[in-house]
Amino acid sequence: MTASHAPFIAACTELLGASHVLTHDHDTEPFLVDWRKRYRGNACAVLLPADTAEVAAVVGLAHEHGVAIVPQGGNTGLAGGATPDESGAQAVLSLRRLNRIRGIDPHNNTITVEAGVVLAEVQSRAESAQRLFALSLAAEGSCTIGGNLSTNAGGTGVLRYGNTRELCLGLEVVTPQGDIWDGLRGLRKDNTGYDLRDLYIGAEGTLGIITAAVMKLHPAPVARVTALAGLASPHAALDFLAMAQRHAGALLTGFELMSDFSMRLVGRHFPQLRYPFGEPHAQTVLLELSDSESDEHARALFERLMEQAMEEGIVEDAVVAESLAQSQAFWDLREHIPLAQAEEGLNIKHDIAVPISSIGRFIEETDAIIARATPGARMVTFGHLGDGNLHYNVQAPEGVDQKQFLEAFQTPINALVYDQVHAHRGSISAEHGLGQLKVDEAMHYKSAVEVRLMQSIKAALDPENRMNPGKVVRWAQAGTRKENIA
Ligand code: FAD
Repeated sequence: MTASHAPFIAACTELLGASHVLTHDHDTEPFLVDWRKRYRGNACAVLLPADTAEVAAVVGLAHEHGVAIVPQGGNTGLAGGATPDESGAQAVLSLRRLNRIRGIDPHNNTITVEAGVVLAEVQSRAESAQRLFALSLAAEGSCTIGGNLSTNAGGTGVLRYGNTRELCLGLEVVTPQGDIWDGLRGLRKDNTGYDLRDLYIGAEGTLGIITAAVMKLHPAPVARVTALAGLASPHAALDFLAMAQRHAGALLTGFELMSDFSMRLVGRHFPQLRYPFGEPHAQTVLLELSDSESDEHARALFERLMEQAMEEGIVEDAVVAESLAQSQAFWDLREHIPLAQAEEGLNIKHDIAVPISSIGRFIEETDAIIARATPGARMVTFGHLGDGNLHYNVQAPEGVDQKQFLEAFQTPINALVYDQVHAHRGSISAEHGLGQLKVDEAMHYKSAVEVRLMQSIKAALDPENRMNPGKVVRWAQAGTRKENIA
């Protein structure tokens, strides 16, 4: 904290109480480092308001004293969006104390929650009302609904239920001026002009602070059954996806692709997780059915699907889980890929999306380009094939110093992968957001028109650039593409 922040901190202390205004290093430390420990910032204070009125009052004080605010939920974001810059001039506003479930409306199939409620808590409250809250991701024990909305998080259920945007009906937001917008409407139809809700979702805290939301619930499935299939190529996986969708329709809730090298890495670092096939397959697909009838119904559907896929030569081998424990073991294979990668060492990560139909070509072309540029580099390709979302990660060649590899190749490999994504009309950030990690690349690959529109929205809603500056969009500055500068 510098002397110039003292009046702001004094005013916040009067408002929130001293125990909710953190300024000592040992108290602020966990809020200043991101989950991957890639970014470390400083802050004049970490502020912990208790409710919407206090959030609005804090933002009003920040407005008055010229202090920029970095909103933070569970701090599990993977793009550095919740970490302040190094200046020490920004304040982190944690939403953790806004942790109330305001109500469940079983007839409207909605739950109204405050922004700081942890995702797993929303899932369990929905379950106790015999409903499903359909957002699910590996950080669900720590991430918050406000963070999920602000990054428009994806996860494993997008194929059937959509991402967080599709699960949200209404928002309550504190604007950069400290006003409260009460848009907590549980409506499935509302065509009354510009959709402000959609503007705040995915804005990563750059336009205002989400304090509460009305989220959709679905009927809880009676049975969940998973299966694994071994295939020869990503092209076969696409044919298989089309066939699975014809057979299962809306019952198909998961379709995850895992390359042979991903499975080998899991086998190497987690030998207790057994790959169920005797032979390796170039690609393995994990499928999940969520059935409203019974376990037997789901299993029979899977058996018919696998039979036809094998008859037609699309699938080489398949196994349907026979118990909940085996289903979990299949998911463990999928969820241990990032952990196995971390055990293997440093790697270059990409969270990209292309049209589903382009996935096969994208993988083939990009693998060849990377192999030419960095012989021996090992591609760890896995992801939500049903959503066109791949984690296309590049591991250093065996035996090469990983730190040196990253220093030399991170920037050129990012450019090669993102050029490929761009050529396929894809997205350089499918589900993790831009934060501070990808803001320059986003400005580079978006058209001049799109960058200008984004800058205009930011300037209109937050003219003093006080909400999470430096994230998502470069402030009042042309993009880096040549035509943006012209
Ligand atoms: P934070 O990290 O605290 O914040 C994220 C961004 O949102 C920041 O820009 C912050 O300023 C802003 N923000 C937070 N709360 C608010 C608010 N109330 N109002 C305005 N802005 C706010 N993501 C996926 O999409 N799919 C996955 O499968 C997935 N798996 C993951 C697995 C692991 C192990 C980890 C660590 C992360 C994973 N993530 C995944 C990323 C992350 O969990 C999500 O992005 C999550 O939605 C972030 O929520 P959070 O509460 O931690 O937000």
